[in-house]
Amino acid sequence: MDVYGLVGNPVGHSLSPPMHETAYEELGMDAGYVTFEPDPDDLAAAIAGAAALGVRGLNVTIPFKEAVLEYVDPDDLAARIGAVNTVDFGTDPPTGYNTDAAGVRRSFEAHDVALDGRSAVVVGAGGAGRAVAFSLADAGAEVAIANRTVERARDLAADVDRYSGSRVAAHELDELDTLVGDADVLVNATSVGMEEDATPVPAEALHGDLAVLDAVYRPLETRLLHDAAAAGATTIDGAWMLLYQGAEAFERWTGRDAPVDAMNRRLRAALGSAERV
Ligand code: NAP
Repeated sequence: MDVYGLVGNPVGHSLSPPMHETAYEELGMDAGYVTFEPDPDDLAAAIAGAAALGVRGLNVTIPFKEAVLEYVDPDDLAARIGAVNTVDFGTDPPTGYNTDAAGVRRSFEAHDVALDGRSAVVVGAGGAGRAVAFSLADAGAEVAIANRTVERARDLAADVDRYSGSRVAAHELDELDTLVGDADVLVNATSVGMEEDATPVPAEALHGDLAVLDAVYRPLETRLLHDAAAAGATTIDGAWMLLYQGAEAFERWTGRDAPVDAMNRRLRAALGSAERV
């Protein structure tokens, strides 16, 4: 049996096991997906141990996404983002990818939203914000980043400028009204709205020409997406990004196309039941 898994701490409520196991069932693969929760000090041993035991691939989540860079050979995009969420043990040293960025790009593609030459606003400059900003800039969008801690937005904008050659502006959150009014694309990459009825973007700023992706997926319909739909915008919930980062990881590990429809159905069923708890 081929073993894949997730390493993080905590990993208890992860949706990755049902999503990946659905893919294995759908394609008749002899494979399993296991969660691992090492002590934060034991990451080096965990990665070496996984390699020695023949684990084929690992997803990586909080708090290890940055620290794992030391034990893998990151591809260009993961190195620029400064975080790895997918490790492929098919090489020595293992290769590190950041499939959150592909998750963003493929979410927009699946909703027929073009990014090249469009004006995009990213709210947030943490781990997700970094992946979103690089993804949008690489797809040819003109990116503006707003973050509560504006220094973090400035640092991220400077990194995207330096590594992707795109001009990126950094802003305070209170500039969102104007920024979003002029934008084609908006992504929430903050944790605002997660298990709470709150939004980082004033409802009055939203308009019908926007496409809005919320990285938050609990709940699926966040306050931001509710307000965006009311304004006539195209809305894309966080389960799409989660689906496509998982699909991209599956494809890197196996070289096969991910059965995204089956994975999507399973993911949404799991999120529905999680919400009822
Ligand atoms: P993170 O690194 O901790 O960053 C958190 C971000 O949220 C920072 O920009 C932070 O601003 C901002 N923030 C937190 N509380 C805030 C508040 N009250 N007001 C304004 N801004 C606030 O977390 P992350 O890993 O980037 O994750 C962010 C969200 O994305 C989470 O909900 C996570 O579940 C989601 N996510 C989804 C996917 C997916 O596949 N759908 C993938 C990755 C992450 P400061 O810099 O000022 O602290």
